[in-house]
Amino acid sequence: MGTPAAAQRLLLGDGGSRPPAVFRGAHHRCLGSHRALPYSADRGKKSVNRQALDDLKQQIPLMGYLQAHDWQPARPLSRGRWMGLCPLHGDRKPSFLVDPNKELFFCYGCGRGGDVIRFAELYHQVKFPQALTLLRQWRGAEPLLREVARFYRVQLHRHSEAVAYLYQRGIRSPELIEHMRIGYAPGGCLRGWLTQLGHCGSALRQAGLVTGAGYDAYVRRIVFPLEDNLYGRSILSSAPPHRFLPGSKGGLYGWEQARLYPDVILVEGLFDYAVLWQAGFPNVTCSLGTHLNARQFRQLCDGPQNVYVVFDADPNGSGQQAARCLLQRLRERGITARQVSLPEGHDPNSFFVDGGAARQFQALLEAAHL
Ligand SMILES: [Zn+2]
Repeated sequence: MGTPAAAQRLLLGDGGSRPPAVFRGAHHRCLGSHRALPYSADRGKKSVNRQALDDLKQQIPLMGYLQAHDWQPARPLSRGRWMGLCPLHGDRKPSFLVDPNKELFFCYGCGRGGDVIRFAELYHQVKFPQALTLLRQWRGAEPLLREVARFYRVQLHRHSEAVAYLYQRGIRSPELIEHMRIGYAPGGCLRGWLTQLGHCGSALRQAGLVTGAGYDAYVRRIVFPLEDNLYGRSILSSAPPHRFLPGSKGGLYGWEQARLYPDVILVEGLFDYAVLWQAGFPNVTCSLGTHLNARQFRQLCDGPQNVYVVFDADPNGSGQQAARCLLQRLRERGITARQVSLPEGHDPNSFFVDGGAARQFQALLEAAHL
């Protein structure tokens, strides 16, 4: 690869000159090509219409997409460009350059750059066609999910059963409810409200918010907005406890905050995350289950120096086994990883709900073995 300055000239400079041969192929195939030819996805099997790509990119400004994925501009540069921490690698000082006028980014740390499609490929770790699908879904679904999350947040304060459930699970501070943007889906009211706002039924069914029979999909569930999804926890023991909308669960929950710390606590559920955050552990993150997807695993490998894994101590030992397996994989990547043992039958949530204190939890962290 060339020097950063050369790369910057290539990606973000003024010139319209063709990049030197050494850079070709290092960036998205859209870049550097101003010809109006259609270009093909992998192996030329599927032709992708250039105009459709340009339209998609125009509808999804890079800056908006980055910020919706928790990227924050740290300092302004000339000509409207911005620097910030790189969301693609464990960045400690801002090395990620964004040019909103050219709709391009480049990272001086990991050397990657391109347009919003390239960003989606790298960020979600998917191939080109899947990146297009994700972007199309996001373009359609994202404002809808925001609207839904806002609606559910209003409902939370209107339904005492929801507040009582949160209280019983140890979620008590308004600051935490605000931080996690927690809402409540009573059921039987979302569809009507969204229809009033002009959303069509097929879009709501496609997003998984409404069932095929036309009912709200989330009924009597505490709702937590995720990156591009909504997690719903049933407050009734008769319903399946966990529910997601179709699509990915996304990266690690709360990662933007947790990654700032050298020691990170990894838990499996959002109620575990909640009580730890509330007890003064801002370095907590959550994998939404004991199986980490590829992106979550990479986040853990790129960021912290020490990882404390605190999965449930279930009677059948499955949580502990998943933790051991994860520890092994992290160590193979050179990460210092520790397994934290909770008292028999406890998860972090029940530990705090049953009166555990922050200093006692801290002692468990310190006692964790390598
Ligand atoms: Zn980077």
